[in-house]
Amino acid sequence: MTAATQAKSLSVPKTMKAWVLDGPEQLRLTEKPVPEPGPAEVLVRVDAVAICGTDVEIITKGLPAIVQGGSPFNKNFTPGHEYMGTIVKLGAGVDEHKIGERVAVEIHAGCGRCERCRMGMYTSCLNYGLNYADHDKGHRANGFTTDGGFAQYAVNHINTLVHVADEMSDAEATLIVTAGTAVYALDVLGGLIAGASLVVTGPGPIGLMSVAVGKALGAGPVILTGTRDSRLNLGLKLGADHVVNIGTENPVEAVKRITGGKGVNYVLECSGAPNALNEALDMVQRGGRICLAAFPGEPVPVDLAKLVRNNIYLYGIRGEGNSATHRAAALMAQKRFDAKLMHTHTFTLEEVPTAFKYFRGRIEDAIKVVIKVS
Ligand SMILES: [Zn+2]
Ligand SMILES: [Zn+2]
Repeated sequence: MTAATQAKSLSVPKTMKAWVLDGPEQLRLTEKPVPEPGPAEVLVRVDAVAICGTDVEIITKGLPAIVQGGSPFNKNFTPGHEYMGTIVKLGAGVDEHKIGERVAVEIHAGCGRCERCRMGMYTSCLNYGLNYADHDKGHRANGFTTDGGFAQYAVNHINTLVHVADEMSDAEATLIVTAGTAVYALDVLGGLIAGASLVVTGPGPIGLMSVAVGKALGAGPVILTGTRDSRLNLGLKLGADHVVNIGTENPVEAVKRITGGKGVNYVLECSGAPNALNEALDMVQRGGRICLAAFPGEPVPVDLAKLVRNNIYLYGIRGEGNSATHRAAALMAQKRFDAKLMHTHTFTLEEVPTAFKYFRGRIEDAIKVVIKVS
C-alpha cells in the first residue's frame, strides 16, 4: 500500500470544471466547488464518462431528470451518468473502500428507505427526485436527480460503487453500467438462462450488450435483429448466433425459420420501434417472456388478446437494479465478452459538445462515445 492509499484523502482542489445544463440543448462549461462527501459517501475523481441516449433525452427535454422537484434546466445541474473514476476522499465512517481504488458508479442509489429500495429495486425508488428542502428523502440518481459525471469530481453513495479490475481500461469500465442494464433485463426474464433461446431486438448499446451478456450466460441461440449491417456484424462479434436485417427479411419469419418454427423462450426489446412488441408477441413461444428495455416515443396499439391467449409474461425494466451492475462487472473482469468493441470514440472534457455531436449523428459509426476526463 502506498502512502497515498493510506491517506484519508488524495489532494483535492477547491473548485473543478463541470458542464452545467442551462436551457434545452445548452451545455456550458463552468467552475463549481468540489462537493464534500457526507456519511456513507465518497468523493470520486471522474476519470471517464460515456454518453448515453438518456443524456440526450435529458439535455433536450429535461425528463427523466428531475431537479428540485421540476425540470433540470437552469439549476446549475451537471448531467452524465455512465462514469467511472478513482476514490480520492472518504466520508465519515466509510471503511468499505480505499483511497485510490478505481470504481465504476451505479447510477441509482435510490433513497434506501422506501419499499422498492428495500427490495433491491432502487431504480424504481418511490421517492424518485425527492432530495430537496422539505422533500428530502435522500434520493440520489447521478445525472438524473443529483449532479452527474460531466465534471472532474462527483460525490457518490458507497452502495453505488463497483470495483474495477486493474486490467480494465477507464473507457471499458464506463460500459459496466450499460452491461448492468443487460444483466438486469436477463435477470428479470429468467436469470438462469443457459440453454434458453433469446431474441434481442435493436442493436443499440443496450441491445448489443444484451447479446454479449446473454451469450456469456449460456443462452442459445441468441438472435439479434436490426436495420444496420455494421451494428449487426458487431453483434456477431459479441456473440450473436444469428443476425437478421429487418430491412431485407421479416423478423418474425426469420425467427421462426431459425428456431424450426418454435419461436423463442425470451425476447428482449431494445429498439423502441412502434411495432416491436407486436412482433415480439409473434416471436415468443406460448408461455414465454418479453422484457421491454426501450420505449416508443408515442403510445402504440398492441394485440393484448394475443398476450393473454398465449400466457405471455411482459416485463418493463428501468436501468439496472438488484446489484446487476456488480454481476456485469464480474463478467467483464472475467473477459466473458469484449465490451471494448462498442467503444468507438474518445474526447476530452472540453470537447463534450463535439462528443454529443458524434453520438447523436452516429458520425463515423459512433456507438459508445467516451469522455476521458483525467
Ligand atoms: Zn445511460
Ligand atoms: Zn427508495
